[in-house]
Amino acid sequence: MNVLQSEGSQSDGGALLMELGNDYPELREAVQRICADFPGEYWRGIEEKEGYPAEFVSALTEAGYLAALIPEAYGGSGLPLRAAAVILEEINASGCTASQGHAQMYIMGTLLRHGSETQKQVYLPEIAAGRLRLQAFGVTEPTTGSDTTQLKTRAVRKGDRYVINGQKVWTSRALYSDLMLLLARTTPVEEVKKRSDGLSVFLVDLREAQGRGLEISPIKAMINHNTTEVFFNDVEVPAENLIGEEGKGFRYIVDGLNAERILVASEAVGDGRWFVKRAVDYANSRRVFGRTIGQNQAIQFPLARAHAELEAADMMCRRAAALFDARQHCGAEANMAKLLASEACWHAAEAAMQTHGGFAFAKEYDIERKWRECRLYQIAPISSNLVLAYLGQHVLGLERSY
Ligand SMILES: Cc1cc2nc3c(=O)[nH]c(=O)nc-3n(C[C@H](O)[C@H](O)[C@H](O)COP(=O)(O)OP(=O)(O)OC[C@H]3O[C@@H](n4cnc5c(N)ncnc54)[C@H](O)[C@@H]3O)c2cc1C
Repeated sequence: MNVLQSEGSQSDGGALLMELGNDYPELREAVQRICADFPGEYWRGIEEKEGYPAEFVSALTEAGYLAALIPEAYGGSGLPLRAAAVILEEINASGCTASQGHAQMYIMGTLLRHGSETQKQVYLPEIAAGRLRLQAFGVTEPTTGSDTTQLKTRAVRKGDRYVINGQKVWTSRALYSDLMLLLARTTPVEEVKKRSDGLSVFLVDLREAQGRGLEISPIKAMINHNTTEVFFNDVEVPAENLIGEEGKGFRYIVDGLNAERILVASEAVGDGRWFVKRAVDYANSRRVFGRTIGQNQAIQFPLARAHAELEAADMMCRRAAALFDARQHCGAEANMAKLLASEACWHAAEAAMQTHGGFAFAKEYDIERKWRECRLYQIAPISSNLVLAYLGQHVLGLERSY
């Protein structure tokens, strides 16, 4: 085992552990075994019918992987974030797609850290057992985009209920989730000191709300991400479904974003590894002008460069996860991991596309599908520009640019 170790520098932090080698080898192998049952043909079929990989998500749930981060006391495995990152990385490196099940891993963190004991007792064991799906995360809105604090969806308290009106966009998996974590404004922006105040987080039971003011409409998109628009028209949510304190929801969401970025970055590393492996195999077997195409530096060097970039991104993912697991500040590292991994993955995708020549366009090679899918990492869950803005302001001390 190759481990970097240092003492935590925060008063609440633990020791910082970071493995350099093939960490969690048994977990990786177990994930690979599951993924072997879901080859490219399966994913192409799902995409053709704009379907949801229910069988794959069930297999992950049954194996306990989607409950990896839920503490044992609530029926999960209580693994560190790094283990969850390894699971998602390995899914994508095996040619499968983690994005249609990954949200449960990071959304539940908000419930775990900020929910009441009753909420945790009610929901977490059900989620861990796979009887409840918490896969939908409603933050983005059509008119406010990355400027989250300006979101327009309103929740107004009326007795023991909140009445919600507004609209969310790009809410992925809403049609395949029982619960949605929703960010809505409870105090008008004009009445708060800071624009990040007055926002609250709710657990919305989509099964109860659909047909009672809540409508979900699928969005036709470049990739099969099961993403939707969600409309709220006087949707009533019991006040007991408020998470934490009213008005503090923005902080709760921000608190979960580092985990999300580290997990998504690890998925990007996994996709990148898949592209490089596929391209190397192809480059070693495809013969043109009497020799394998991989002998040409114009084919070989972009793959070598992508590999180097992925290794660097992987190191940043591990560093960010180690800090997160040691309960130390990891905002800069989580953002850098997401930035570097999304770009490294894209460079690997481009190299694989070029290596496969015309066959990259043949659906049966899966290159074009994965190439489309991995472009998302530079835009969602947060665009690269906003990551750079964070680094510029909070790490470098430059003036806020947005
Ligand atoms: C397939 C898919 C799935 C998604 N799933 C979810 C989900 O489940 N839940 C959810 O809440 N959201 C989801 N999203 C939304 C996603 O998080 C947003 O699309 C993303 O955060 C960018 O917001 P936007 O699209 O509104 O872009 P905008 O905010 O309109 O930005 C457009 C462009 O302008 C740039 N820009 C804007 N302001 C600045 C500035 N000040 N400086 C520099 N550049 C700037 C951005 O970087 C971006 O490149 C999903 C999106 C997609 C495409």
